[in-house]
Amino acid sequence: MATKKVKSAGRFGARYGVRVRRSLIKIEEMQKKKYVCKRCGKTAVKRIGTGIWECKSCGYKFAGGCYIPRTSAMKIVDQVCK
Ligand SMILES: [Zn+2]
Repeated sequence: MATKKVKSAGRFGARYGVRVRRSLIKIEEMQKKKYVCKRCGKTAVKRIGTGIWECKSCGYKFAGGCYIPRTSAMKIVDQVCK
C-alpha cells in the first residue's frame, strides 16, 4: 500500500489550504457512498483503491477519479492525487 499514516482528517492538514481541506471532507463522504455501475446499472460500485472502482454486483472493475468516479470535484481531486 502507498500510504502509511492514514487517519482521515489530519492526513492532509499541513500540505493543503483550508479550501482544499474543506473539499476533501466532502470527497471523503463521497468515497463512502456507492455508485451506479455503468455495466449492470446497480448501485453497487465501491472504491477498492486509489482510482480503482469495483462493482460488487457484477464484478466490473474500472479506473475512475482518485476518490470518486466522476463529479465536478475532479478539479480538486486532481490536485490531491498527484
Ligand atoms: Zn455492475
